[in-house]
Amino acid sequence: VIEALASVLRGLPAFRPGSVWLAGAGPGEPGHLTLHAVAALGQADVVVHDALVRAEVLALARPGAERVFAGKRGGRASCAQADITARLIALARAGRRVLRLKGGDPFVFGRGAEEALALAEAGIPFRIIPGLTAGLAGLALAGIPATLRGVNQAVVLATGHAAGEGAEGLDWAALARLGQPIVLYMAMRRIGAIADTLLQAGLPGETPAAVVSAAATPGERVLDAPLGGIAAAVARLDPAQPAVIVIGGVAALRLRLAAAMAEASCSRAA
Ligand code: SAH
Repeated sequence: VIEALASVLRGLPAFRPGSVWLAGAGPGEPGHLTLHAVAALGQADVVVHDALVRAEVLALARPGAERVFAGKRGGRASCAQADITARLIALARAGRRVLRLKGGDPFVFGRGAEEALALAEAGIPFRIIPGLTAGLAGLALAGIPATLRGVNQAVVLATGHAAGEGAEGLDWAALARLGQPIVLYMAMRRIGAIADTLLQAGLPGETPAAVVSAAATPGERVLDAPLGGIAAAVARLDPAQPAVIVIGGVAALRLRLAAAMAEASCSRAA
């Protein structure tokens, strides 16, 4: 298996000096990296990563590769976005192989698209390496399918970050009327206001919901609560951990799936 895997990795494209690869690391542990992301880690001269990228993933970087932390947490800019893009451009112009590694998928929230636009504008060659996004993979790991025939025909991936902030805010009442599951990213601090708006717009308080915190990490926690109680459930979780919240019928499926899922694996004998 190792031989076959190594041969697949060798067959993947080579990292061109002076270019940026904008890659997703998946939700947490290295098992959810794609082989493209592993190959990128093995070749990059410098890895510019987010707070969401775990140490176990960074450990796969080529020995001697430089690591640069460029993270933001909870909406607070610990690194200004303009500085991050300027840095990526400068590193690429210096002829380095620059891996920009982000949690989840690079093009689902988290500003990867902004970085790609800036690279394109600066004329820096870049490549996108998709990753498993927390709002789908995190749910799946918790036993919550994104879709089930007869339950839903669409899934809304939404950010709760700007909820209630006027122009940037979403039309939550319209989402409630849609009657399709809503998966919320970056919504821990605003879930109370979001849930109230959805309830006022007519979503029943018994609508199934769940929150998945720190998916695919040793600290993973999943709480089930109906829409009417979801804010209270979120308040019981560590606000420093990333979490996705799902509101809609699919959340109830976890009760039928999770127990059998827990039985399917065990740790390997040494
Ligand atoms: N590009 C990322 C999302 C970045 S925005 C992706 O595709 O997953 C950051 C938000 O992603 C967090 O606020 C949280 O809502 C979600 N998130 C990222 N990693 C997570 C994890 N391991 N468990 C639960 N939610 C996570």
